[in-house]
Amino acid sequence: MQPHREGYHGLRADRVFDGERVLTGRPIIVLRDGRVEAIEDGPIDPAIPVTDHGAATLLPGLVDAHAHLAFDPCGDPAQQFLHDCDDTVLTRIRHHARVALLSGVTTVRDLGDRGYLTLRVRDERRTDLPALLCAGPPVTRERGHCWFLGGEAEPGAALAAAVDERVARGVDVIKVMATGGVITPGWAPHESQYTVADLRTIVDRARLHGVPVTAHAHGADGVSAAIAAGVDGIEHASFLGVGGVQASDEVIAALAATRVFVGVASARLPSGKPLSPLFQAVADVFARQHRAGVRLVCSSDAGVDPQKPFDCLPHGIVDFRDVVGMDNQTALTAATSLAADSCGMGHRKGRLLPGHDADILVVAGDATADVSALRHPLAIHRAGMLVS
Ligand SMILES: [Zn+2]
Repeated sequence: MQPHREGYHGLRADRVFDGERVLTGRPIIVLRDGRVEAIEDGPIDPAIPVTDHGAATLLPGLVDAHAHLAFDPCGDPAQQFLHDCDDTVLTRIRHHARVALLSGVTTVRDLGDRGYLTLRVRDERRTDLPALLCAGPPVTRERGHCWFLGGEAEPGAALAAAVDERVARGVDVIKVMATGGVITPGWAPHESQYTVADLRTIVDRARLHGVPVTAHAHGADGVSAAIAAGVDGIEHASFLGVGGVQASDEVIAALAATRVFVGVASARLPSGKPLSPLFQAVADVFARQHRAGVRLVCSSDAGVDPQKPFDCLPHGIVDFRDVVGMDNQTALTAATSLAADSCGMGHRKGRLLPGHDADILVVAGDATADVSALRHPLAIHRAGMLVS
């Protein structure tokens, strides 16, 4: 009569945030074989054991759509990748992935490693680490942003070849550095590394293979070029220009109209200090983007500086809510269902729905009224198993 009951388990709490909606009335999430089987608001088969967490919230594991597991946050980025051997980098990747999981991040999209090493860890398919999606080395100009990761490709035939190489290695997404960045001298954040035509070559080639493209772009020109090329996502969109932030209403309107995902990548540990004038200006631009209807994803860029260790995303959700001017529930959505959608994983991650992976956090109290509770999860389940 009940041949599979021993493979079932239930989790119960006062409320569930399913990635989009709040379910009250003490629902029970029924898990089976690492997946969500059902969410029941009535009695369930008494043969299924249920763990009752009481006055808590059950919610999807967090999705960090932008991290760099290979980076030592406290090290010099170029030096690490020019000198560390593969075993050292692999050890870092596994350790950082574990740190992320223990903070409640059950899916990490890695947007830049060296030598496709993150893919090796992804393919170990370990449930004591988050699920990984990987870009391999970002496509960049000679001595361009993060060139030391090994992804240099100049405009021309090399761009399609760069996409082909990444697809052959099995990447989940192509990352292209459309502009310079903060951590590599030579190209400033407002300087475009590629033209619209260059970026379109990359997008068209990736589309042939069915692989999405996300573009790192700070400056308004680079953001515009990425939109025109038809990328699936834009990382940063900070509108850093010469001498400060130069956001254009027109480009913000285009970000909203195209529904492209914008990865804010701003999460960091709380410093206790007010934002610097430059960071405040960037924050104001994200608030403008939010008001304009841009789909903002809460992500971390973990690894690139000491304030961005791999457990910073839960802290970043609190800042994201305040900086962008969102309510708690929308901020949670930005780090769960919307983040999963931005990674092309909305059918399995970021939501608690039947058939989705049982990556589930338990957080004290009502996390939908105050996301700061996410800083200290009570329990973390990955693929249905308790990891902490
Ligand atoms: Zn990054």
